[in-house]
This record gives sequence, structure tokens and C-alpha cells, in this order.
Amino acid sequence: MHSIGIDIGGTKIAGAVVDEFGTIVREDRQPTTAAQPDEIENAVVEMIERLSEGPEEIVGAGVAAAGFIDAAQSIVYYAPNINWRHEPFREKLESRLAMPVIIENDANAAGWAEFRYGAGRLVSDMVILTIGTGVGGAIVSNDRLFRGGFGAGAEIGHMRVVPGGLPCGCGAHGCIEQYGSGRALERFAGELADAGGIGQALADVRTRKGALKGKDISKLILAGDPGALAALRQLGDWLGQACASLGAVLDPQVFVFGGGVAQAGDLLLEPIRLAYLENLPARGYHPEPEFRIAELVNDAGVVGAADLARLHATQR
Ligand SMILES: [Zn+2]
Repeated sequence: MHSIGIDIGGTKIAGAVVDEFGTIVREDRQPTTAAQPDEIENAVVEMIERLSEGPEEIVGAGVAAAGFIDAAQSIVYYAPNINWRHEPFREKLESRLAMPVIIENDANAAGWAEFRYGAGRLVSDMVILTIGTGVGGAIVSNDRLFRGGFGAGAEIGHMRVVPGGLPCGCGAHGCIEQYGSGRALERFAGELADAGGIGQALADVRTRKGALKGKDISKLILAGDPGALAALRQLGDWLGQACASLGAVLDPQVFVFGGGVAQAGDLLLEPIRLAYLENLPARGYHPEPEFRIAELVNDAGVVGAADLARLHATQR
């Protein structure tokens, strides 16, 4: 049984036919710089039609995009990159396509793929944090994707960790995105470079390149540079504190970390685990969750969207 997953990103639309084991059978992608709803809609419809032309029986299509999507997976309330405001996207797609369609927030779709086929596949409850430029994520509770009553839940990056803290792009202050993201890592590294001492190698790179970017910091982390490792520990400490709060509420068996910074592997997980234990309520009596690195790197959004579409089409 096959379904189609589409992931609308900032620079491209990716799509694939996916089987019930999460394996991509055929894929398609096209660049897009379109911000107009009509152009995006046409591109998505055309891609689904192209992908449907194979021998497989397609039971439905799932479309992932950044933005707030209602709990019924049909209306995009708001999208940051596309001019969608209360856009009835599912209805529009279903009126043009001969199959059921669902739409899903892209972080939720990618998180769902990790739950079904990656690091969360053996548990019922999982929290995934994606550490990129910002902090994204998804929550699976009792084998279901948690969306909230309005569909706008699981915005993990905007959980407040510092009252009156650094201003965030969302308009609030002190969100974990400002302390646990790739940008935060650059900031911590910059502060260590300013201080000298163990930050000397970071300072040298900054002088040579004019700025301290994530890639250079990653290289130093993997080379065992004490300054870069200290910056990573700072980041892990914040993330571990956030996980303790999330754990107190959601009690997942596993926390999964994805995104570019997660390539540091155990070097990132270790400080997260330590900070988690230090900040966990009822320490010593609470079963300890596992901390893992995400297994699906590419195409998680496409695979997750396809799987959610298949479940939707077969369970109604
Ligand atoms: Zn925020």
C-alpha cells in the first residue's frame, strides 16, 4: 500500500511515493521561490499527479509545510514563507485530485517519520528536538502525534526557559530557541572567543574567517578543541534543562535530537543527560528516558507526511 508525501520547503518542493515500511519508491523535487498560494498549489498538484503515474495503488497524499495548521489537518492558519492566511489548502487540493489529502506542519511530519521508522520506533511516547538555526520539534504521546486543541501545539522552540530573557523571533522573550539552537551555539562560542584561554582556537578561526559559523565550530568540536566543546556543553545544559521540564509534563521514554548540531552525537547528548538529571523533579524515583540522535536525516518530512496520509486514508 503506497501513499505520497510532499514537503514544501523554503527553496524546493520535495515529493515521493512511499510504501508502508517508510521506504521511498520514487521521488521528485523542484526548486521553488514562489510565495504566492496559487503557484504553490499548482506545483503541488502537478507533483502529486506526476508521482501517481506509476503502477502503485496510491491511497492518499500528505503535504507538509511550515506554519500553523488546524487540528483537522485542513486549513493553514498562517505560514511564515508563503502568503497563506486561513488558507483552506486541503479542500483546494482535494477538489483537484482524486485522492484524500491531509496537510501537516513540517516539523510534525518529520517527527512522525522518526517515531515510525527511526529512533522512536520502539516506544509509545517520544519528544524530538531539531537543533538547526532555530529549535523545532514534535511530540508523540501514546502513539499519536500531539497537535494540541487548535493544532498549533508542540512549538517546543518557544517554550520559555528564561523569564524576561533574550528576545525571540516569535515576539516573546526567553524562548529555548535563543539558548538551545545553532545560533545560540555560535553566540556561546563567540563569548568564549572573547574571553581567550580555552577560547583561543575559536578566536583564531573568527579572526581568519571574519565570523564564527556553525560549520567551523563543528569542526573544532570534532577535533576535541576545549573551547568548542565548552560551547557545546553550554548548549547541552540548556537543552537538558528544557528536557527536564518537558519530561515532567510529557514523560516520554525517549528524547531524540536532530538537525545539524546533533551530528556531534554523544558529545551533545552527554551534557543534555547531565542537565536533565540535575533538573528533573523527583530525581531518583523517576524512570530515566533515553537520549538519542535522530536516525532519519534526509526526506523525513516527505516520509512522515506520506505515512500520516496513509493512516488517515486507511483509518476512516
Ligand atoms: Zn520564541
